Amino acid sequence: MTSPAVLVINAGSSSCKYQLVVPDTGEVRAKGTIDRIGESGSPVVDHVEAMRQISIALVADGVDLTPQRLLAVGHRVVHGGPRFSEPVVVDDAVLAEISDLSALAPLHNPAAVAGLHAARTSYPDVPHVAVFDTAFFTTLPAAASTYAIPRGVAEQHRIRRYGFHGTSHQYVSRAVAETLGREVDEFNQIVLHLGNGCSASAIRGGVAVDTSMGLTPLQGLVMGTRSGDVDPGLHTFLHHELGLDVAEIDTLLNKKSGLKGLAGVNDFRELEALRGSGDEAAQLAFDVYVHRLKHYVGAYLAILGSADAITFTAGVGENNPALRLAVLDGLGGLGISVDPERNAARSSQPRVISREGAVTTVLVVPTNEELAIATQVSRLVGT
Ligand code: ADP
Repeated sequence: MTSPAVLVINAGSSSCKYQLVVPDTGEVRAKGTIDRIGESGSPVVDHVEAMRQISIALVADGVDLTPQRLLAVGHRVVHGGPRFSEPVVVDDAVLAEISDLSALAPLHNPAAVAGLHAARTSYPDVPHVAVFDTAFFTTLPAAASTYAIPRGVAEQHRIRRYGFHGTSHQYVSRAVAETLGREVDEFNQIVLHLGNGCSASAIRGGVAVDTSMGLTPLQGLVMGTRSGDVDPGLHTFLHHELGLDVAEIDTLLNKKSGLKGLAGVNDFRELEALRGSGDEAAQLAFDVYVHRLKHYVGAYLAILGSADAITFTAGVGENNPALRLAVLDGLGGLGISVDPERNAARSSQPRVISREGAVTTVLVVPTNEELAIATQVSRLVGT
């Protein structure tokens, strides 16, 4: 008898990723992506059709999806607003609340709602659980989550720093504790999630106390196509000087900025190839990316008082030794020192890359959001 699995669904506006994961072992029984949902000429007209195709693909893969073998369906939901601090079993009331949060995540939450509707119809006999990207950051102290704008406006429209990538930050921070053989509530750490989207978090005793993304996933670090922090006055400037409207400014900052805006490529491997060939724009993009990361590492050291661990994760963080070295270069005086040999070694396992005896342990820990979701779902609905 094989162990029951969790079907993890990540529904975006035009794509839907799925993975059938066994929470206890991490075994992936099936996975795939349905693309071009709702695009003109695409056979996948909506999320209902996407779910139908996922079911067909799973059957074709020969996986057993009877309720005995399918524990639950776990849904990644980007925005949980101020309320959802934990995974939750989805009923009609929860679905209405997720839908109500669409103003805060206009691109993401409507897709999640569509995916949830479709999946509940396709798999009516198992629980459906929403796991929120913001949940881990509902613990941010008010001083960290509050923007200094008129209080009434912020309260009425729920404007605050929410943070995103929470599932990854939580999973990685627990994996760090396991790797170090310590209890997570005993120490302070900084996690740097560097993928296409990038975010940093400060975690005190397992609890998130600051993070670089804000009301939206645009704030903070330099990303593949997103600017991260800019002067808020830039919006007015772009409007007055270039005549851009809000939609155009949004596109410029979300889709045409970051590494792509600076060097013409958003993929870090391509950036490195350009940098290797002496491309000045690519070098500047790398330097700006590193400078912003140093800025956040410094800020979080000040907020935490000290960090026992600093961890790199996600595509860039796990795979780019030069970047890791550059970010922590020159911090020996703070007890942070990367060992070049350990840093250069390739591995898919969690590992320490700091020098022996350094005050702060520096690690590389692969993230796994699907497994993290499957594990949280399994904990909630039980086996
Ligand atoms: P997402 O945010 O979409 O989950 P990933 O975590 O997969 O993104 O990260 C994507 C980024 O990681 C890209 O910029 C890519 O160039 C970089 N990356 C992925 N694999 C490697 C690798 N083996 N070496 C260097 N960079 C990598």
